[in-house]
Amino acid sequence: MDANLAKTKVTALAGDGIGPEVMQATMRVLEAGGAPIEWEMAEAGAEVFKKGSVTGVPRETLDSITRNGLALKSPLETPVGFGGKSANVTLRKYFELYANIRPVRELPGVITPFTGRGIDMVIIRENVEDVYAGIEHMQTTSVAQCLKLMTAPGCERIIRAAFSVAKAEERKKVTCATKANIMKLTEGMMKRMFEKVGPEFPEFKQDHIIIDNCAHQLVIAPEQFDVIVTSNMNGDIISDLAAGLVGGLGIAPSSNLGDHAAMFEAVHGSAPQIAGKGLANPTALLSAAIMLLRHISAFDVAETIEQALFITLAEGKNLTGDLSPRGHGVGTAAFTDQLIANLGRTSNLPSRNYKQIELTAWPELTAHSEPNTRELVGIDVFLETDLRSEELGKALEMIAEDTPFRLNGVSNRGVQVYPPTGGQTFLVDHFACRFMLKHPIPLDHSSANGQPEISYLVQRIGTKFSWMHIEKLQSFDGKDAFERPQGEG
Ligand code: NAP
Repeated sequence: MDANLAKTKVTALAGDGIGPEVMQATMRVLEAGGAPIEWEMAEAGAEVFKKGSVTGVPRETLDSITRNGLALKSPLETPVGFGGKSANVTLRKYFELYANIRPVRELPGVITPFTGRGIDMVIIRENVEDVYAGIEHMQTTSVAQCLKLMTAPGCERIIRAAFSVAKAEERKKVTCATKANIMKLTEGMMKRMFEKVGPEFPEFKQDHIIIDNCAHQLVIAPEQFDVIVTSNMNGDIISDLAAGLVGGLGIAPSSNLGDHAAMFEAVHGSAPQIAGKGLANPTALLSAAIMLLRHISAFDVAETIEQALFITLAEGKNLTGDLSPRGHGVGTAAFTDQLIANLGRTSNLPSRNYKQIELTAWPELTAHSEPNTRELVGIDVFLETDLRSEELGKALEMIAEDTPFRLNGVSNRGVQVYPPTGGQTFLVDHFACRFMLKHPIPLDHSSANGQPEISYLVQRIGTKFSWMHIEKLQSFDGKDAFERPQGEG
């Protein structure tokens, strides 16, 4: 390599299972290709959990990534039965790696039912919000709840990230995929933000698609997609689906970008069945390392290594078992040797023209806009009871008498059951009881307006029922800031 090229320090996490094997192979290819990287090895995953860590990520590892701002990570096992949260999720959240970038491109020699369709897209998944915030509570012994939190800045920065990727990769179209038709406030926020931010980028075609149709279209006509931006859970699912179109998780890379750090990884797990046998395919981690090289602007080295990978796959000589006809696969080391031997050769598939992805620093985004008027219009009280809905509704109407509220209705799992609608709702012991204020109360940030009225009603409800939680119902500039249950008039 060019001795004058300054080296960038990168934290390397060898990980679990096949992790150390694919990491070693990747490092060998990068070294041979002249990558200007100096590795700093660090630990995370199963062994760390076994030592009693709840996060699976020791302080020294966090410090190393904080110092370097860059990590290449092999798969980490999430132990079942001991340890705490997933070490992968810990790393994503600790470094606020909010943008998960998943390229999906047809690779030469990797034959799938979609070969020849020219699939070449990138999926941008919001990586830290949504139901993955992990805010879950049992409401009763038989009812579980998970909060789906989506924020305006969270939506804005992932949408801006999608346009940054589109620019960096000279893409033509950005598609926003949401479930805004059902979750109008959460998923709808992402759609609205896309419509608000999109006009700043007129050079790209833009459209919105409902996520279930997106999954369908990905299978029917995947070549229509260029950049897809979506929320966390949608992205989790469709990015795996898309990876399946071009050869599966075993060859899929991803990057996790934030303002202060970036982490590059294979999408697959630690494949414990083949761990230690020297059989693992390092393509996914190597492809993630190629993304890392582009991230540090080592574009030429990235292209040299990518072309060596393409030609190795295209020629089909010395491929690992997962990419070869049964009985013809070689081990990780022989595949790596072949990759190294092919450095300097070019394939028929050109590398894309890449530039550096420029993320907008998120603290500067002030998507938060205060309405001119904000009012408290009611509350939802979630309570646990075995009463029938008719009985419950009547009891709550009596409770609300001589309070500032009136009972608007009672719903069960999001469907109105009182006043009855005639529907055939299956009932569980968890009811949402909507009380509307007879006279809305103006709110401002500093005042405790509405507190005495709410306390009075809740205290009265508490004498008869066990309540689980309360939601304030607000209106912003005269517009309801809440959804109505199915069946509410
Ligand atoms: P997996 O590790 O991806 O393995 C599933 C199967 O895919 C393997 O048994 C193997 O198939 C094949 N495979 C995956 N990577 C391969 C490679 N590089 N080369 C050749 N074959 C490969 O999925 P899993 O079994 O569900 O998960 C195992 C562990 O990994 C779990 O502890 C999970 O929590 C963790 N995990 C970590 C990450 C991450 O760190 N980002 C992601 C996913 C899962 P054959 O058996 O047919 O050879």
